[in-house]
Amino acid sequence: MNSIVEETKYMMGKYHIKANKSLGQNFLVNEEAINKIIENSQIGKEDLVIEIGPGLGTLTKHLLKKAQKVICIELDKKMVEILENRFSNNQNFELLNQDILKVNLKSLIEEQNKNTRFQKVKIVANLPYYITTPIIMKLLEEEIPLESITIMIQKEVADRLIATPGEKQTGAITYRVYYYAKAQEILEVPNDYFIPKPEVTSKIIKLSIRKEPPVILEDKEKMFKIIKCAFMQRRKTLLNALVNAKIFENKGKGMQILKDLKLDLNIRAEKLSLQDYADIARNS
Ligand code: SAM
Repeated sequence: MNSIVEETKYMMGKYHIKANKSLGQNFLVNEEAINKIIENSQIGKEDLVIEIGPGLGTLTKHLLKKAQKVICIELDKKMVEILENRFSNNQNFELLNQDILKVNLKSLIEEQNKNTRFQKVKIVANLPYYITTPIIMKLLEEEIPLESITIMIQKEVADRLIATPGEKQTGAITYRVYYYAKAQEILEVPNDYFIPKPEVTSKIIKLSIRKEPPVILEDKEKMFKIIKCAFMQRRKTLLNALVNAKIFENKGKGMQILKDLKLDLNIRAEKLSLQDYADIARNS
């Protein structure tokens, strides 16, 4: 048995912990995966790290050694007790017993920056899988001044997020993520790297937040609406999907827009680049 497995089992025994499935509790017990998350987060001594769902504190222990400050956000009171016991002696440790989806991260960071000017703010997490997508979209869309997000998530979601347009895994969310960040795969993680084992394979990915968006347009929500409509009927041609969704007034107008943009009239949703969707938004 490796030492992380031993430590995890010891703590679960000591605090009478039975992993809570409905809170997505699968504790990471593999050294390679832990090291990859920590290394790829590239945490500097002047950085603020926000860890989502620290659980028993397996990643927290390493983050505290690297960062100027670590703020942990954990929903489960039982975990909070353990984390307090383990880390409250560390000057750079802060713990919030809250639901990540309800935390105003922008004002939390602003507040933190009043006392100390942190160089960069980074998110690190082995996410609770039942709310992976809402957490990622919150982090990307709330205009939080983040440098990067290094996370463990389920493989299927990871593959969608890191897909490039044209691939089978491409979905509407691929474009949303691409608009805000450059996504990179770090490591595929089998289910026996956790206690208890989740039913799915996982992946560690890193999202490096863009300083400037890759396409410039006045109304990005209009573009995202078009992408959503295109993928809701992804088996149809883009033209038919967007006529049905009333994005194009009628087929003739839709054909003209696609022709003007030099797009094939039979093209399907996943073949377009983000720039193509931005052009359609500007012209429709
Ligand atoms: N970081 C630990 C590890 O790697 O072993 C635990 C990861 S476990 C996959 C997910 C953690 O997220 C659990 O500790 C769970 O209690 C916590 N969690 C679940 N829902 C949450 C929420 N809405 N807000 C904050 N934490 C949450």
